[in-house]
Amino acid sequence: MTLPDMVDVAIIGAGPAGLSAARHLAEAGIASVHVLEREAEAGGIPRHCLHSPFGLREYGRPMTGPAYARLNLRRALSAGAQVHTRVTVTTLGPGGALELSTPDGLHQLRARAVILATGARETSRAARLIGGTKPGGVLTTGALQPLVHVNGARPFLAPLILGTELVSFSALLTCRSAGAKPVAMVEPGPRIRARWTAPLLPRLLGIPVLTGTELLAIHGGSQVTGATLRNATGKTREIACDGVVITGAFRPESALLAGSGCDKDPRSLGPVVDQYARLTDPAYFACGNALRGVETAGACWREGRRVARSVALALLDGLPDPQATRTIPADTPEAPGALAYALPHRLAPDTAPPALPHMQLRVTRDYSGPLTLGRDQGQLHARPDRRIHRPLPRMP
Ligand SMILES: Cc1cc2nc3c(=O)[nH]c(=O)nc-3n(C[C@H](O)[C@H](O)[C@H](O)COP(=O)(O)OP(=O)(O)OC[C@H]3O[C@@H](n4cnc5c(N)ncnc54)[C@H](O)[C@@H]3O)c2cc1C
Repeated sequence: MTLPDMVDVAIIGAGPAGLSAARHLAEAGIASVHVLEREAEAGGIPRHCLHSPFGLREYGRPMTGPAYARLNLRRALSAGAQVHTRVTVTTLGPGGALELSTPDGLHQLRARAVILATGARETSRAARLIGGTKPGGVLTTGALQPLVHVNGARPFLAPLILGTELVSFSALLTCRSAGAKPVAMVEPGPRIRARWTAPLLPRLLGIPVLTGTELLAIHGGSQVTGATLRNATGKTREIACDGVVITGAFRPESALLAGSGCDKDPRSLGPVVDQYARLTDPAYFACGNALRGVETAGACWREGRRVARSVALALLDGLPDPQATRTIPADTPEAPGALAYALPHRLAPDTAPPALPHMQLRVTRDYSGPLTLGRDQGQLHARPDRRIHRPLPRMP
């Protein structure tokens, strides 16, 4: 399919958020909605998650990740959106001027509005400063899943899993389907991070979960042979394993913000947005995990739908003046650094339905104390990895 030079809306990323935004914009009658996806297939992360449940709230039934990805794509296409794969957006220019890398070479595209739906990625081994050697068999969940589910590889038999977020249990299931039995799950925090029933899984499978334990170093030559762990009392020990899966600690895929002129939030590492999910260059919007660490696919899909409404309004000049937007002070005054993020970051006059109808917060550690949001003072009692919603604040 030929890429045009000029479109109404360009959406970067064909995951649940991007495809939902595309579908709802096309259904709202926007004529040219184009999704740009760097992978060979559209669908985003769920394409590699063979497990259920995806799609419960969106489609009223549980499905596997690939089935959910295919359905999101079909709905976007049948609504009239166009999806271009193997197209990587390399630069965001002012006012919606994009530079793309395509199989046919470089391409420039101008869009009246652009939605960033680029998702998130796990924090790598290097960024976590884990010591030791650099053997084969150290993977993030994002790397493990396509390796196992697409290439049919069996990268190890007895890996160690670092992390206990929801995605860590997804990694556990992937290890099982590759014929591997993890030797343990290691969690630096005091307790398992995921909620619901996920923590039952290692118990059922006889896999120990070592909370309050850090992964200090990974050892091995061509393949991992073991790892050094340190518990909360400072005692270290060696554990034998032939691989390490580094899971979670998601951060937005926001490399495109560099040099774009759009502000980046140092807490979330995603873009600074107002309640219409509009960036500081008002031609740009964002939704899904591109905004913050990780949410469920369903939450990203619903956010894509709401952001589509904001973008449709923007094309009709129906959003308030971006110049009238003010920064929302957000702070935990007695514990600097306790907020992992608070978004939206800015508030514009509320003359249209917000795409982000609540303040979305997360904390970096257990926190109990005062919280300042705009002019509102309150108390916050929270644990990391719990989604917290507060009403949009009144401004000073
Ligand atoms: C291992 C794992 C298991 C999970 N299991 C579940 C589950 O069971 N249930 C659930 O609800 N959620 C689950 N999730 C979470 C869910 O998959 C994600 O929250 C969801 O996919 C996020 O949607 P998204 O559209 O924001 O981003 P993604 O799905 O990450 O899609 C982003 C897309 O943008 C593309 N892209 C990025 N940069 C560019 C660029 N510059 N140019 C072009 N394209 C670009 C990427 O290739 C990707 O296809 C899981 C996540 C992981 C990692």
